[in-house]
Amino acid sequence: MIKIALIGNPNVGKSTLFNELTGMHQHTGNWTGKTVGSAVGTKKYKGEVIEFYDLPGTYSLIPHSEEERVTSDFVISKDYDIALVVCDPLCLERNLNLVLQTLEVTDSVIVCINLLDEAKKNNVDIDINKLSTYLGTKVVGISARKREGINDLLDAILSYPHTSFKFTYEDKVEECINIIYEHTKSKFEAIKLITCKDTDNPVIKEKINQINSYLNESNINFNDSVMNRILLECENINKLVVSKKRNNKKLKLDRILTNKLTGIPIMIIMLMALFWISIVGANYPSDLLFKLFVSVGDYLKEFCININIPSIIYLPLLDGVYKVLTWVVAVMLPPMAIFFPLFTLLEDFGILPRIAFNLDGYFEKNGSCGKQALTMCMGIGCNAVGVTGARIIDSKRERLLAILTNSFIPCNGRFPTLIMMFTMFFAVTGNTILNTTINVFLLTLLIIISILITFLISKILSKTLLKGENTFFILELPPYRKPQIAKVLVRSLVDRTLKILLRAVVIAAPTGLIIWLLTNININGSSIISIISNFLNNFGLILGLDGMILTAFILGFPANEIVLPIIIMTYLSSNVMLDINDLSLIQDLFIQNGWTIITAICMIIFILFHYPCSTTMITIYKETKSIKWTILSFIIPLLIGITLCMIVNFIGMLLL
Ligand code: GDP
Repeated sequence: MIKIALIGNPNVGKSTLFNELTGMHQHTGNWTGKTVGSAVGTKKYKGEVIEFYDLPGTYSLIPHSEEERVTSDFVISKDYDIALVVCDPLCLERNLNLVLQTLEVTDSVIVCINLLDEAKKNNVDIDINKLSTYLGTKVVGISARKREGINDLLDAILSYPHTSFKFTYEDKVEECINIIYEHTKSKFEAIKLITCKDTDNPVIKEKINQINSYLNESNINFNDSVMNRILLECENINKLVVSKKRNNKKLKLDRILTNKLTGIPIMIIMLMALFWISIVGANYPSDLLFKLFVSVGDYLKEFCININIPSIIYLPLLDGVYKVLTWVVAVMLPPMAIFFPLFTLLEDFGILPRIAFNLDGYFEKNGSCGKQALTMCMGIGCNAVGVTGARIIDSKRERLLAILTNSFIPCNGRFPTLIMMFTMFFAVTGNTILNTTINVFLLTLLIIISILITFLISKILSKTLLKGENTFFILELPPYRKPQIAKVLVRSLVDRTLKILLRAVVIAAPTGLIIWLLTNININGSSIISIISNFLNNFGLILGLDGMILTAFILGFPANEIVLPIIIMTYLSSNVMLDINDLSLIQDLFIQNGWTIITAICMIIFILFHYPCSTTMITIYKETKSIKWTILSFIIPLLIGITLCMIVNFIGMLLL
């Protein structure tokens, strides 16, 4: 088996190549930093098994962030046979930095120039042979997206190329390297140790101190000397192999999309358009699914009665498990199955970094950085993904800000619940188009409120618990790329559908059973659920909610999507659940249980701000390795939710 480390700058098409080679479905997207974890896949070619490790994108083997460290450690470990460095021909000079550093680490390197189709369009020509001769190693040109050149690449892998390309630094730098070289696997590991100083080895520590004194005495900036030497080499190679007949076509689009006046309004309009299509498109399939599930449910119940299955067996299964499970599928699936493919198309086009660019100034003013906008975009899909995605942020302080505030953005478990709330209490004009407009407007407003609260909390945290300087970062604006429409649609549709179905089975189904038991097991004449909710009722009323709603939020800790069905089941408190395809029936049920417009507003606020679901909490702990930050990520949104609900309830009491 041949083990390949797949490395490259962010956004050069590594994941696309990885997917083409292995048939796997790593996340691809047109923005810097979307791969934060590594993936492994295999390919059989000419009788050989080739194992590919898709590593997070990095500009350098001297890491500046967590994800870059993953790649740097892997490359320097030399625990692979060949390093495959993927490059973008449109900015080869910058990519060569990583190529040269990798050549310093290992002598088995293949340079893969991807995106050749894009280079051709931009009249950029790379002399592959000259580059190969200069570096003394295999260089292969490909277009991963079009599957062009893949076999040449695989042939190059089978040839196990070896290179002896090395270059020297200025004498004093070489002297420093030599002091610890015997303790390292490569010259570049020595450079990394001197630069990052992250070693526990006392001997190396001692030698690094010795090097530092030497550097101070000689007045040398080690990092600058190393980098300048490498960059000079990159420049030389670039001049030699790249020819541009014409300047890159500059897209005028950026002038509008990243303009101070037009940028943000256009982003908001785009978001509204996505919501509009999702809401309108989801109505029909949602309705269809409801009807289908109800008739299947009725049929199953009849069947159970006919074959004399005891009610104690079929009732919990049909009225508990089946009803909650089908609710989650019918409510959650259609809007998300439409929203996410569309969102992914925009991502593939290159919109996400522009959003981060437009919001960067605001984030900076509030003590954090624009990359937080990218983690928020990931949070729209799933807050746990947004939390993991925060690895793209280099500074620990700013990463924590992004992690602690990520749950303010509604994830796919909360979106459809919010839409239902709006539909029941606000979009009630009788005119479908007007109702959809109200829904879209309110959803967008909520997102804007989430962003504003994110700014506010980031500011408060950066002045208190997370004090520190803002860091400087480079956000790359990738070229706009034509999205792969068919691929994106099919992929994200299948992925989303499977994910929601899986969650429905794993979380909603057992919860359905628990709720049924809690509503049907009585102690002293009261069901367990009503005992819990009575206990919480007074506090719930202070928040403009009630005990049942709070109980639902507690039981909904595993997944936000089950909060609303729990409320409905507990209000019904009988062993038959209301057919949920008629929202007016649910609204009536809520009103019978004392809901007013204030309850609805408080409910919406609490959906937006309570605590992250259990999966997100576990992810926060994994990412921060700190009980303190995990608890804070629970408490902060909860306190915001409680405060806002109390304020709204108080104002409501004064006004109504
Ligand atoms: P990574 O960050 O290096 O993993 O890059 P991705 O695989 O996510 O690709 C970044 C963007 O480049 C995506 O929009 C891809 O569709 C696009 N892309 C990748 N390879 C090619 C290619 O050969 N030609 C063109 N035109 N686009 C490509």
